[in-house]
Amino acid sequence: MIKFSKVLQNIKTYEAGKPIELVVREFGISPEDVVKLASNENPIGTSPSVKKALITNADKAHLYPDDSMFELKDALALKYDVKENNIIIGAGSDQVLEFISRAVLDENSAVLMSAVTFAMYEIYAKQMGAKIVRTMSYEHKYAEFIEAYEMHKPKIVYICTPNNPTGDATSKVEVIKIIKAIGSEAIVVVDGAYMEYASAKDKAYSISPNDILEFPNVIYLGTFSKAYGLGGMRVGYGIAQKELIEQLYKMRPPFNISTLSLAAAIEASKDETFIKKSILLHQSEIGRYETFAKENGFAYIDSYTNFITYMFPEDMDSTYIADTLLKKGVIIRNLASYGLNAIRITIGTEKQNDTFFRHFAEVIA
Ligand SMILES: *Cc1c(COP(=O)(O)O)cnc(C)c1O
Repeated sequence: MIKFSKVLQNIKTYEAGKPIELVVREFGISPEDVVKLASNENPIGTSPSVKKALITNADKAHLYPDDSMFELKDALALKYDVKENNIIIGAGSDQVLEFISRAVLDENSAVLMSAVTFAMYEIYAKQMGAKIVRTMSYEHKYAEFIEAYEMHKPKIVYICTPNNPTGDATSKVEVIKIIKAIGSEAIVVVDGAYMEYASAKDKAYSISPNDILEFPNVIYLGTFSKAYGLGGMRVGYGIAQKELIEQLYKMRPPFNISTLSLAAAIEASKDETFIKKSILLHQSEIGRYETFAKENGFAYIDSYTNFITYMFPEDMDSTYIADTLLKKGVIIRNLASYGLNAIRITIGTEKQNDTFFRHFAEVIA
């Protein structure tokens, strides 16, 4: 019998959004009729200039990428007004989360996060045998964070803003207040995976890496997977003072993103038109989801992201709704595993959203 590390006993494998292929196979629905609104991907796809860059770079597939990733760091440094040595690139910001966890956690440490937040924080912490501490609320509340911090002295404090899977956000003022009250021996992670959407909605919720770079124990995380439409390329980044970045670099495998991913991200970071177009579509569609909830008598969380979370009353069961939608070819995220009678829906194109509303109305009828 293989003796696996005992930390594995506590870990539930991350459940990713169901792929289109699965719905086609299991329910015999043709791929064109499947609507995937489960993983917060960009509904308009990938920028045309990125596609061109992928084709141009196809004949470099046999070459290892530039391991310094200088050109991408340069683009990010320009975008955020920081230095190249403030930046580490990961295979998704997920990989940067893994570097952070491995760099500071062991079986004697704790991590602190909100009651309902990104599932990978817990999984990476458990891989290191660390203890998980959660606040009472899914919102990031100053008093709750500071009380839990004082009691447990966690090595990592997670602030996911905007928060996934709830969609709410924490204002810049509030985030900085929390950071200032946390001791400098804990790493504070500000996960801005959806920051492009929050910034477009309300400046008070817009946090740029530069707003928090003065704190030596704070790292900002960003990703190309959401607004930039590159979920399939796996590119994310962390931005912090160079001493913190240098330590994280010790955890990084060489060539941790591919030649094509690197080319795609470099091109994507330059295409602001595509981001603007994505945000505009999002803004014109999300109101329909709010109206739909009101008309049908259930609550939603005001969203600062590219998804919306519907919170159901007791007589509506999120698991039944998610399963029934799936059989109709509509993939959304059931939040029952997070302890919520709720579903999370990525805002799609106008046509995808029409399909969602039509099927959802049938399910609850
Ligand atoms: C999607 C997401 C990430 C990371 O995504 P990658 O594809 O690994 O870059 C990180 N944090 C949150 C909150 C997310 O929703």
